Amino acid sequence: MSNMRAMVVPAPGGRLRMEERDLPEPGRHEVRIRVQACGVCHSDSVTVQGLMPGIIYPRVPGHEVIGVIEALGPDVEGWDVGARAGVGWFGGSCGYCGHCRRGEAFACETIHGATGVTRDGGYATHMLALASALAHVPEALDPVESAPLLCAGITTFNALRNSGARPGDLVAIHGVGGLGHLGVQFAARQGFRTVAVNRGRDKEALARSLGAHEYIDSEAGDPAEALQAMGGARAIIATVTSAAAMQAIAGGLGANGTMMVIGAVGDLTVNSLDLLQKSAAVRGWYSGTAVDQEDTLRFSQLNKIASMNEVFPLTQAQAAYERMMSGKARFRVVLRIDG
Ligand SMILES: [Zn+2]
Ligand SMILES: [Zn+2]
Repeated sequence: MSNMRAMVVPAPGGRLRMEERDLPEPGRHEVRIRVQACGVCHSDSVTVQGLMPGIIYPRVPGHEVIGVIEALGPDVEGWDVGARAGVGWFGGSCGYCGHCRRGEAFACETIHGATGVTRDGGYATHMLALASALAHVPEALDPVESAPLLCAGITTFNALRNSGARPGDLVAIHGVGGLGHLGVQFAARQGFRTVAVNRGRDKEALARSLGAHEYIDSEAGDPAEALQAMGGARAIIATVTSAAAMQAIAGGLGANGTMMVIGAVGDLTVNSLDLLQKSAAVRGWYSGTAVDQEDTLRFSQLNKIASMNEVFPLTQAQAAYERMMSGKARFRVVLRIDG
């Protein structure tokens, strides 16, 4: 086979369309992956709608990729043809710049950008990736089930473990959706007293079945007051897509509490007096690097954490994308790639 198929965004705001391409040869430090599954993430809208300057079109979106390595470019070490590999938002790192040398590879000064944004991603039968972006994927994990762990999973898992909260602390997962339904599972398994916060009571039973110990209906009253009544949160993992909703819960932080912002909502206003009285913080969190991906996958396997998915074939990528953007999917959308 010398051709591949990809669902490409022809221009900003355009509809995804199928394109046949020659199979690409991996360049230096790159591998070619035969894609088995790719999750459809809200951040794909960056590429589909052209929300970032400098994206070159046509572009293949997709940054929750699991597949098998099919070919190695020059100077790839530590990977073999036939190995299972995962690729997330993290597009790779150089290993020699100041940030890389300080263990901050996500901010690499040499390799910029993101999978499916500045380089082609996984809405395709094949893709190229830098070896430094690859995560080892345990053989026992099903690619379709596990693909969302490489963005929704790593982002919540990694934000939680870097929030400063320790086992037993009160941690709120704000929003029980694509990110939050994984966040609840990770928080409970990481040993936190886990509070799920969402509008209405529809998702309460599900949140509790995923491990939430408490549930707050953010429409029924002031969610910040409700958290304070529980003692104040050591961490709030803010997964929602509304700045107003984030602002409304920030006051629920306790002493030394941190709100980890992982939903992109634009400008956010918080009460500085409230923050300084509590030594509290609002912090953004980058999803994570390749080794964080591996930690996420292994932790999920050990603790039987899984994403709930709606599955579409590659040819239905436009419908899959629209379903994800509707906010109605339960909870992640995944493309199954057959050949
Ligand atoms: Zn994503
Ligand atoms: Zn670097």
